[in-house]
Amino acid sequence: MRHFFPELNAWIDDIHDPRFKPFITYHKRFLLWWGLALFFFKLSSRRQLDFQLNTDGPRVLDNLNRLADTKQKTRPVNGTLNYFLGRCGHQPVADLRDLMVRRLIRMKALDDARLQRRFLILIDGTGMLRFRQRHCDHCLTRRYGDKTLYLHQVLEAKLLGPGGMVVSIATEFIDNRDMPDEATEPDPAKRKQDCELKACDRLMPKLREAFPQLRICILGDGVFGCGRGFQIAKDHNASFIYVFKEGRLPTAWQDFQGLLRLCPQQRVECATPARVRQVYRWVNELAYTDSEDRPWSFTAVQCEETESDGTKHLWAWAVSSDLKVDRENVVAVGQRGGRQRWCIENQGFNTQKNSDLNLEHAYSHGEQWPAYYYLLQIAHMLLQLVEKGSLLRRLAAEADKTAWTLFGSLKNMAKRLLESVRFLWWPEWAYDAAAAGRIQIRLDSS
Ligand SMILES: [Zn+2]
Repeated sequence: MRHFFPELNAWIDDIHDPRFKPFITYHKRFLLWWGLALFFFKLSSRRQLDFQLNTDGPRVLDNLNRLADTKQKTRPVNGTLNYFLGRCGHQPVADLRDLMVRRLIRMKALDDARLQRRFLILIDGTGMLRFRQRHCDHCLTRRYGDKTLYLHQVLEAKLLGPGGMVVSIATEFIDNRDMPDEATEPDPAKRKQDCELKACDRLMPKLREAFPQLRICILGDGVFGCGRGFQIAKDHNASFIYVFKEGRLPTAWQDFQGLLRLCPQQRVECATPARVRQVYRWVNELAYTDSEDRPWSFTAVQCEETESDGTKHLWAWAVSSDLKVDRENVVAVGQRGGRQRWCIENQGFNTQKNSDLNLEHAYSHGEQWPAYYYLLQIAHMLLQLVEKGSLLRRLAAEADKTAWTLFGSLKNMAKRLLESVRFLWWPEWAYDAAAAGRIQIRLDSS
């Protein structure tokens, strides 16, 4: 794990947030690795740290000490980690995530997934925590019949890498922290709650502050395909590919369909490896005026798919005019652009919820839960580098197997990792930062 980021311990040292101090008994580096271990080894709940990384595993302390460059004599319990995160808060962990993403960008590990030299930023929201009783002052509330649920959601910006890899690059929690009309409407249930677009207004400045120069293209669902979404991209110097929905922009959609009839030559036909026939059509400079009278012009692209049994699907995107769409690249804009939006749902949220990363689990009921969220994001970034990287492929090739048949499943891989940290003395070369810096890791782009 240190191979990908040889500087990780130095970065942890460099975080000078006054609350992020060495602990009386445990070094902050050790506690950070201890927290990441919760997710690397897919332990599913904080309690499991005390059982899976306890003294039954004779090598745990030594292996983790060498990862963290520390000399701890004992292991912390899960409560120590929680206390530490409660004291330092989530910001130092979020900062660490940013440093790691910056390094991936600098080492060009994600370049193959760019579209027209722009990094694709997938933005979407998802549910995280759900309680039957109010959990804190900021919970979103939702009524189901006579029951009220208390929720926390998150809006994520994920950077797309090769092979569908998605890396968290900016995060905004959707909750009622800054509910503006608190004074005028005392009943929380009647106030207008936080939502994805509002959260996006907070997320994008953060992303731009952390990555001011990055050339980006935002991929968003139909919620963004409107004047407000276009403005978000414009304000933050981003291109966009948003889902274009008839219901969201009815007049623009009508114009689009009318203009398509006038330019029958703007049409490209192709077939996918699964023999799905695709017909791409597009209209450049489609004009649209939003509800605030702002004029916009974008390229509308549609892809009509016909499966071998005759079933048809229609996909459409609103594409910012600075992206080139013509006969040569319309298919790439659809396949390597618009369609990649699903990766945040599949490789992002679904993997984090349905593997033992357990995104929807409340790792802490206190103020610490966002810190666990960021630890999960960092661990998932590292796991993806292992899973999709050339090191694992090389290891598998040595055993005359594919990466997949070597372990059988990603769950098994996490189990083997856990066994190895418990029982194997990891060799010294595994910690050699200088050697690690020389290793080139190629991500599988298939
Ligand atoms: Zn809450």
